[in-house]
Amino acid sequence: MKEPLKLSVGDQIRLKKPHPCGGTDWEVLRVGVDFRLQCLTCGHLILIPRLKVEKSLKKVLKSATLDLPELV
Ligand SMILES: [Zn+2]
Repeated sequence: MKEPLKLSVGDQIRLKKPHPCGGTDWEVLRVGVDFRLQCLTCGHLILIPRLKVEKSLKKVLKSATLDLPELV
Protein backbone atom coordinates (compact mmCIF):
# COMPACT_ATOMS: atom_id res chain seq x y z
CA MET A 1 0.00 0.00 0.00
CA LYS A 2 1.22 3.43 -0.89
CA GLU A 3 1.19 6.20 1.64
CA PRO A 4 -0.66 9.22 0.36
CA LEU A 5 1.63 12.15 -0.03
CA LYS A 6 0.86 14.77 2.54
CA LEU A 7 2.31 18.00 1.38
CA SER A 8 0.97 21.43 2.05
CA VAL A 9 1.84 25.01 1.32
CA GLY A 10 4.96 26.08 3.15
CA ASP A 11 6.58 22.65 3.14
CA GLN A 12 10.15 22.33 2.00
CA ILE A 13 11.04 19.24 0.04
CA ARG A 14 14.03 17.66 -1.63
CA LEU A 15 13.66 16.14 -5.07
CA LYS A 16 15.87 13.52 -6.68
CA LYS A 17 16.23 15.46 -9.90
CA PRO A 18 18.25 18.63 -9.39
CA HIS A 19 17.28 21.95 -10.89
CA PRO A 20 19.68 23.21 -13.59
CA CYS A 21 21.08 25.57 -10.95
CA GLY A 22 22.19 22.56 -8.94
CA GLY A 23 19.64 22.94 -6.17
CA THR A 24 17.47 20.05 -5.07
CA ASP A 25 15.44 21.78 -2.36
CA TRP A 26 12.08 23.39 -3.01
CA GLU A 27 9.39 25.21 -1.15
CA VAL A 28 5.77 24.35 -1.88
CA LEU A 29 3.82 27.46 -2.86
CA ARG A 30 0.68 25.79 -4.13
CA VAL A 31 -0.75 22.29 -4.05
CA GLY A 32 -3.31 20.62 -6.28
CA VAL A 33 -3.16 18.60 -9.47
CA ASP A 34 -0.11 20.69 -10.21
CA PHE A 35 2.33 21.89 -7.59
CA ARG A 36 3.92 25.30 -7.68
CA LEU A 37 7.44 24.98 -6.36
CA GLN A 38 10.11 27.56 -5.73
CA CYS A 39 13.74 26.56 -5.96
CA LEU A 40 15.40 27.43 -2.66
CA THR A 41 18.74 27.83 -4.36
CA CYS A 42 17.97 30.24 -7.19
CA GLY A 43 14.39 31.30 -6.47
CA HIS A 44 13.03 29.97 -9.77
CA LEU A 45 9.34 29.04 -9.88
CA ILE A 46 8.12 25.88 -11.57
CA LEU A 47 4.80 24.18 -12.10
CA ILE A 48 5.07 20.42 -11.78
CA PRO A 49 2.39 17.71 -11.88
CA ARG A 50 1.65 16.13 -8.51
CA LEU A 51 2.55 12.68 -9.89
CA LYS A 52 6.02 13.90 -10.77
CA VAL A 53 6.50 15.35 -7.31
CA GLU A 54 5.48 12.05 -5.76
CA LYS A 55 7.85 10.14 -8.01
CA SER A 56 10.85 12.34 -7.49
CA LEU A 57 10.37 13.25 -3.85
CA LYS A 58 13.40 12.27 -1.86
CA LYS A 59 12.53 13.73 1.47
CA VAL A 60 10.47 16.32 3.26
CA LEU A 61 12.86 18.81 4.81
CA LYS A 62 10.37 20.91 6.66
CA SER A 63 6.67 20.51 7.11
CA ALA A 64 4.41 23.44 7.78
CA THR A 65 1.75 21.20 9.30
CA LEU A 66 3.53 18.21 10.81
CA ASP A 67 6.19 18.24 13.48
CA LEU A 68 9.25 16.62 12.03
CA PRO A 69 12.24 16.03 14.26
CA GLU A 70 14.81 18.68 13.52
CA LEU A 71 18.14 17.42 12.32
CA VAL A 72 20.71 19.38 14.22
ZN1 LIG B 1 17.24 26.54 -9.06
